Amino acid sequence: MTGFDSFAMVDWSSGNDTGPRPRKDAIWACVVRKGEAEEPMYLRNRGIAELWLRNLIETEIAASRRLFLGFDFPFGYPKGFARALTGSDDPLKLWDWFERRTEDSPKANNRFDLAGEINRCFGGKGPFWFNGLQRDIEGLPKNKSDYQNPFPERRAVELMPEAKGSFSCWQMGGAGAVGGQVMMGLPVLARLRRAFTGQISVWPFEALDTPVAFVEIWPSLTLGSAPDGRIKDAWQVEQVALSVARMQVEELAQHLNVNAAEEGWILGVSQSKPNIAPPPLRNDCFALPAGVNWTPVDDALALLRERLTVVATPERVALSQAAGRILTEDVLANRSNPPQPNTAVDGYGFAGAAQEGAQVMPLYPGRAAAGMPFDGTVPDGHAVRVLTGAALPDGVDTVILEEDVTVQDNHIAFHGPLKQGANTRRAGEDVAEGDLVLPAGRRLTPADLALLSATGIAEIHVRKTLRVAVLSTGDELVEPGETAGPGQIFDANRPMLLSLIDRMGFQPVDLGRVPDDRAELRDRLNSASGQADVILTSGGASAGDEDHVSALLREAGAMQEWRIALKPGRPLALGLWNGTPVFGLPGNPVAAMVCTLIFARPALGLMAGEGWQEPRAFDLPAAFEKRKKPGRREYLRARVRDGRAEVFASEGSGRISGLSWAEGLVEIEDGARHIKPGDMVRFIPYGSFGL
Ligand code: AMP
Ligand code: MG
Repeated sequence: MTGFDSFAMVDWSSGNDTGPRPRKDAIWACVVRKGEAEEPMYLRNRGIAELWLRNLIETEIAASRRLFLGFDFPFGYPKGFARALTGSDDPLKLWDWFERRTEDSPKANNRFDLAGEINRCFGGKGPFWFNGLQRDIEGLPKNKSDYQNPFPERRAVELMPEAKGSFSCWQMGGAGAVGGQVMMGLPVLARLRRAFTGQISVWPFEALDTPVAFVEIWPSLTLGSAPDGRIKDAWQVEQVALSVARMQVEELAQHLNVNAAEEGWILGVSQSKPNIAPPPLRNDCFALPAGVNWTPVDDALALLRERLTVVATPERVALSQAAGRILTEDVLANRSNPPQPNTAVDGYGFAGAAQEGAQVMPLYPGRAAAGMPFDGTVPDGHAVRVLTGAALPDGVDTVILEEDVTVQDNHIAFHGPLKQGANTRRAGEDVAEGDLVLPAGRRLTPADLALLSATGIAEIHVRKTLRVAVLSTGDELVEPGETAGPGQIFDANRPMLLSLIDRMGFQPVDLGRVPDDRAELRDRLNSASGQADVILTSGGASAGDEDHVSALLREAGAMQEWRIALKPGRPLALGLWNGTPVFGLPGNPVAAMVCTLIFARPALGLMAGEGWQEPRAFDLPAAFEKRKKPGRREYLRARVRDGRAEVFASEGSGRISGLSWAEGLVEIEDGARHIKPGDMVRFIPYGSFGL
């Protein structure tokens, strides 16, 4: 139950009666009912304040209004104090303990004496300090020069960055101190609880299921100085009461949802950092240079490379889960490979080089095999049987291949010479312990897994696989398997793009199709931005009436129309939707695939954590002739036959059969060119894009 009807905030004080005229450093209170603040109440001493509070609680209970009552002093002390005084961690027992021992009148109270008395139980140097009286009090240090505190200086809440500037409960006086207020405030609260048994609950120690809740507040948490002409305490209680009263029930519930059994908490200080990260990408990350009509491909790529950052989050996985994942940090060998010297062949091992000519050696009993080391030392001049992979026994550093040996009468014979160390592998000759095995950003290959395993790595830090959502747009599209009416076509892009994403090592998320309908597209993008790191759309990316992808992104204020000097390609719409990057690809399947390979793939790699990956290209003689005008880069569907690059007969960007016929792309530079058969051209196999 968290809804409240009335809100009252109290700014407490530990001082004596402040006289008839309203002034600062007195007790001030303010009540808000139905969103309206009453005139702040000036309460000249604690006796008057207690009566006023009783009256308020009675009134609100009688009117069946739930009352939220805030006080600006700690409801508990740092850990361990309550138990040391009362034998219990329950702060409410400490309230009663203080209530039995404090004496309070408008002109005087015993707080310094009580603080000294408590200190004397703990050796007389703390936890309390500061004496506001003329006379000395045994055990109560005047300052912190000879101060010793057997308890923590601060409550956990006071250590939170937001609560910077809060005072400790141990300081009994001086500007801003709260120690006296706590000691002289808790007894009042204890009496009110008793007077209204079962009607008051205390936050955060008790469930707030009664008509009245006592809550610890700290106006300085959110408020600055008061406007001119207003008494700060009066203004603060009014402001806090209004702002808590205006909070949504859920928001207040969230603030009230803390866990601070013994020490209490300050309302509004968040208990832990919320689990949020700054947006990974800047809103203008897709902005192109102004005034340029058609951006060259290389400029567009350089821009993506510079502006995009890693968005995939790190995690730790077992090696068995690591195939294809991207390392977040360098990996060093836990163990050398090989871990110890061993034999590379089946044969006989002995010490040192063998001279030229026939050699005969006595055979020492026993043998060494992989995983079954020889136990003992082979005497000098003796040979021992060794099998491939076996650790070299003590006394052995050289091995003769068994095919080169005659064995008879417990001896071996072979022809020298043989170099010392022949047919053996040195410890660490492949990788030494501590060596860099693989660098951060590496996408793990099957061979990498062998290397990691051999060097003793069982778990690694990698990134979660980048989730890439794919969405087709267009009224004309129907799903394969459905009946296609006149004017309708089957959605070709989505199966292609989903498979491209998968092959390139990202996690495809199928968002289906949407018609050319802005509201539906908006809904789909909203849900996509919640379940994917990046969104690829196809269709609707130009500037026409039915180009809703670009229209929506423009509406969101984070859209750029990329007019890239590229064939095949139409304008791309790049933008952020709820912070999630959207690549609005052209609808034509050929352009959609080329733009994905040339632009989206390196961008996705960067966001996935593998850095900017350039496809590897090869220069090959052309098997075709082509004249090309200057001004834009061209990608032709191509394949290699007999060592020469062939291109597809038609360059039409709707010719899906050519995409399928091809095994890669021929890239022709931005300038003019006349390519004749036999001239060198750049061929990029599909495999170079990770396909
Ligand atoms: P748009 O970019 O929406 O103007 O579409 C350009 C061309 O690509 C049109 O002929 C569309 O019908 C076609 N197209 C758009 N999306 C797809 C798709 N998912 N599959 C096949 N063709 C498409
Ligand atoms: Mg369309």
